[in-house]
Amino acid sequence: MMAAIRAGLLGQKVLLIEKGSSLGRKLCLSGKGRGNLTNIGDINTFLENFNPTGQFLRNAFSHFFNQELMAFFEQAGLTLKTERQGRVFPRSERAQDILRVLEQYLAKVKVEIIYNRSVREILLKGKRVAAVKLDDGRILAATGVILATGGGSFPQTGSSGDGQQIAEKLGHRVIPLRAALVPLLTQEKWVKDLAGLTLKNVRICLLVNDRRKFSQIGELLFTHFGVSGPVVLSLSGDIVDLLRSKEAVEFSIDFKPGLSPELLKRRLERELQGRLILKNLLKSFLPHSLISVFIALTKIRPDKKVNQLTQAERKQLLGLMKDFRLGISGFLPLKQAMVTRGGISAKEIDPRTMQSKLIKGLYFAGEIIDVDGKTGGYNLQAAFSTGYLAGENAAKNQG
Ligand SMILES: Cc1cc2nc3c(=O)[nH]c(=O)nc-3n(C[C@H](O)[C@H](O)[C@H](O)COP(=O)(O)OP(=O)(O)OC[C@H]3O[C@@H](n4cnc5c(N)ncnc54)[C@H](O)[C@@H]3O)c2cc1C
Repeated sequence: MMAAIRAGLLGQKVLLIEKGSSLGRKLCLSGKGRGNLTNIGDINTFLENFNPTGQFLRNAFSHFFNQELMAFFEQAGLTLKTERQGRVFPRSERAQDILRVLEQYLAKVKVEIIYNRSVREILLKGKRVAAVKLDDGRILAATGVILATGGGSFPQTGSSGDGQQIAEKLGHRVIPLRAALVPLLTQEKWVKDLAGLTLKNVRICLLVNDRRKFSQIGELLFTHFGVSGPVVLSLSGDIVDLLRSKEAVEFSIDFKPGLSPELLKRRLERELQGRLILKNLLKSFLPHSLISVFIALTKIRPDKKVNQLTQAERKQLLGLMKDFRLGISGFLPLKQAMVTRGGISAKEIDPRTMQSKLIKGLYFAGEIIDVDGKTGGYNLQAAFSTGYLAGENAAKNQG
């Protein structure tokens, strides 16, 4: 949509071909329907929030970035607000309103839209784009084509990897599509008893083959099958690749990151002088629903008087509070991921124009490209920035 708007604004005749019966279905799901369309971070912060190929986006961000995007929407009357961690949303908290503005712009610059038809093939004349072929057999002549068919996740929204296949047929290298921003499965089946529990301000440490690789304080959400939440989702793309290469992945959870092991030990020892039973003592250390799982793992009787706990049992409690292990055994499939890792190799796209380095007149924009970001508005900004650049250059190259 952004590519079509930019090309239309520059006076080009633009046809937008949409496979579904409406535009922006994934956009409308974004940010849990609230539409986290960008982030107020600077370019370097943005690039840090992408996988290593994200450096490819520097030119697109330099050309049309978050301030320009926000102005684009605010000039059309959409009021925005910034939430924690710099996330930008419409003040209405309705992603639908972002779509409404885009549709208004499309109409204003007279972009023609065909719905319920998918592009099957791009036809070439030598090494130059000549036409697109639709699923009903129609061939539409075009001197420039922007492929913005999205990734491979949430195929019910229309993005099912078509564009990657079309480009592959033209000789483009496609990095295999994998899930990123995806909930993870744990070896521990008892997690289902904790489904819905969110642990706030815990330290989540990623261990690969028992070596600490990364740690961050944040939220951990238990699900029926494993874990999710912002920190888990952000790490998930890398974890998917680690699991695919058969590495052993674990999380070590520190329930009390604000207390050093010594301080926690002293606090626990003080409480252990009392006459409470174990399950009641733990109420001042852990969320209620976690206590029975926690005690079951220690194999100590829940009604044991805390002043009767042995040294080994005390050590075990302390150890579990600071280093609670969860074995990561898998991940939900690509179709349930928020973002796709992989896609058209960024090495074959000119970052200054989004034009294919192999075929003249062919451009790429959005999640079809092998770049993926973390949660926080980074992916939509990447789609808007690359779309803007592709639309602008496709229009300019038409003369
Ligand atoms: C649940 C969920 C929540 C998300 N939340 C956020 C968020 O809050 N912030 C954020 O930055 N990102 C978020 N994302 C990611 C973000 O929505 C995507 O990165 C973004 O929509 C990608 O835009 P795109 O235009 O490249 O592709 P898409 O939005 O997937 O659009 C591709 C379009 O191409 C059409 N199409 C596909 N194949 C064909 C074909 N052959 N012919 C014609 N048309 C075709 C599709 O029907 C679709 O309309 C979220 C994703 C999901 C799934």
